[in-house]
Amino acid sequence: MFDLSGKVAVVTGGNGGIGLGMARGLAAAGAKIMIAARNDEKSRAAVADIETRGGAAAFVSVDVTEEKSVAAMVAATVERFGRLDILVNNSGINRRGMAQDLAVADWHTVLDTNLTGAFLCARAAYPHMKQAGGGKIINIGSMMSIFGSGVLPAYAASKGGIVQLTKSLACGWAKDNIQANAVLPGWIDTDLTRGARQYNPALNDYVLGRTPAKRWGMIDDMAGIAVFLASPASDFITGAAIPVDGGYSSLG
Ligand code: NDP
Repeated sequence: MFDLSGKVAVVTGGNGGIGLGMARGLAAAGAKIMIAARNDEKSRAAVADIETRGGAAAFVSVDVTEEKSVAAMVAATVERFGRLDILVNNSGINRRGMAQDLAVADWHTVLDTNLTGAFLCARAAYPHMKQAGGGKIINIGSMMSIFGSGVLPAYAASKGGIVQLTKSLACGWAKDNIQANAVLPGWIDTDLTRGARQYNPALNDYVLGRTPAKRWGMIDDMAGIAVFLASPASDFITGAAIPVDGGYSSLG
């Protein structure tokens, strides 16, 4: 039920953090992994990480905000591994600033990366999934898909939008046996949140106090949900947004 042998997965932003945690899980379940991100050095290290664990992986350089770059990512995947079954839209960035202060350029950068990037990747993957008789799209949202934040208006808008994009892809592509779901991570220990902790020294105590599990999530905590949503075990689940958050979103 959870076997991904013979399947091929593209993981955007898979060269570190949550993407790498998911890529490790998918590889352990048998999928071949295409790591897709901008920093080739990090991507090379991620491929080595997966191979050391016995998995199969390659990498391609991509900027998910660029339509041509995304088309090249998909073409490279199909050329290398022969097909494309699973897309993890994980690439994401953050720009802090109250709405009255946030530069319009920062607003566009965040929306272009976190939301338009996922749309472009899904659209480029679609013909290959359709041709293969089905596929799995896993979009990475956030607690900011549910909650607002005064200092993260663009990020929260992008992550709210990801959930609605997910539902729309689910509705539109169900007839093609393509399931699209979103994962909403809680606070996970990655480069992104290490940056946030530098910006806000009180964040660590806040996260530990507010999260019922009383710990940060680790990147390997993201592996199970990736395998589940990529595998036949989730074939009747589409359009869902699933928190993986140690209970953060359940606490009133
Ligand atoms: P990281 O900064 O480690 O990962 C972000 C990834 O996105 C990097 O691998 C980066 O690779 C890639 N990326 C950024 N911009 C682009 C671009 N234009 N084109 C292609 N790839 C790009 O942080 P996380 O692992 O924490 O974040 C991963 C996802 O999880 C994001 O969508 C984030 O919003 C989300 N998330 C994280 C949470 C957390 O607590 N950590 C909580 C909720 C959601 P490169 O620089 O090489 O391009």
